[in-house]
Amino acid sequence: MKRDLKTIVFKVNPENPDEEKINVAAEVIRRGGIVAFPTETVYGLGVDALNKEAVKRMYEVKGRPPDNPTIVHIAEFNDVYRLAVDVPEVAEELMKRFWPGPLTIVLKASNIVPRVTTGGLETVGIRMPKHNVALALIKASKTPIAAPSANIAGKPSPTTAQHVIQDFYGSIDVILDAGPTKIGVESTVLDLTTKPPQILRPGGVTYEELKEVLGDVIIHKAAKAKENIPIDEVKSPGMKYRHYAPKAELIVVEGETNKIIEEIKKLINEYSKMGRKVGVMATDETVKNYEMGIVKSVGSRSDLSTIARNLFRTLREFDDEGVELILAEGVPEEGLGLAIMNRLRKASGYKVIHVS
Ligand code: AMP
Ligand code: MG
Repeated sequence: MKRDLKTIVFKVNPENPDEEKINVAAEVIRRGGIVAFPTETVYGLGVDALNKEAVKRMYEVKGRPPDNPTIVHIAEFNDVYRLAVDVPEVAEELMKRFWPGPLTIVLKASNIVPRVTTGGLETVGIRMPKHNVALALIKASKTPIAAPSANIAGKPSPTTAQHVIQDFYGSIDVILDAGPTKIGVESTVLDLTTKPPQILRPGGVTYEELKEVLGDVIIHKAAKAKENIPIDEVKSPGMKYRHYAPKAELIVVEGETNKIIEEIKKLINEYSKMGRKVGVMATDETVKNYEMGIVKSVGSRSDLSTIARNLFRTLREFDDEGVELILAEGVPEEGLGLAIMNRLRKASGYKVIHVS
């Protein structure tokens, strides 16, 4: 990708974004440009969702396959009814409960949504982000904003503006820097066009929370998969592509915590002997057990939100330090643990060891 644009990087206050800077960015969106902006989950690579050419250009810059749909971000509840048709009652309940917030709902698309935005599908994923910069940008742009995560396709998602600068400086128009994102993993994608509703991607809103509202909700098997699932069973096109991957090889070790530690210690030994630069992604509770390799704690097992927040940044840090092999501890698949394990397994290309 050419990097010959003069990218403007604006520092913005995450709570009270500077109106002038937002207006400059909104003008860029209105004339079909690309603006990276923070949300509560990760940074997004935003364009006018209704402008075909702008969406196409964004796909090219990101290197995203054209059949992988992009989430459309809105700032007013009413926009749902412009973008979607046959909106079920349950969607309204979910919007009231979880918006603004990390829940994307998949609905039947109206005909104002270009099919380049939906990856050719007749459905559209919509969400209202919980971030004042994102909301101000969408409002000032006066159009819904299509935004995938602001990373080059396949790489770990960006949770700081520095990550966006690494991937896109010189190839997009504006980067709004409001500091690190709070949640750190992407939104939950929930398909409401099926009965019962299906979680296509676990994320910031948990299965447990959705179950409370919906009663009946299922998790698509690819979202829990420990290995690649056959392409013909893929429901959300995003499921079939390698995702979130650091440059280093990544192996995830899952199971009971003590067994994980034992296994990782054994692996560090074996791989270090082979001359490989090994990194360990441990947790606050386990980090002291490792004496070899580059060891980092990603967060606390007693508060999985800390692990979610640090996950992608930590993967990128291992790369920056030239680590060749990362051994990552698994966590239980409860609450945010489901999203964390989904990202880790995919990032590893399903190199998963289960110890029991
Ligand atoms: P990203 O934009 O990188 O956060 O990825 C967006 C995710 O949402 C991908 O996994 C998409 O496949 C999924 N997604 C977006 N829109 C739809 C849709 N209409 N149907 C199914 N999945 C969707
Ligand atoms: Mg992404």
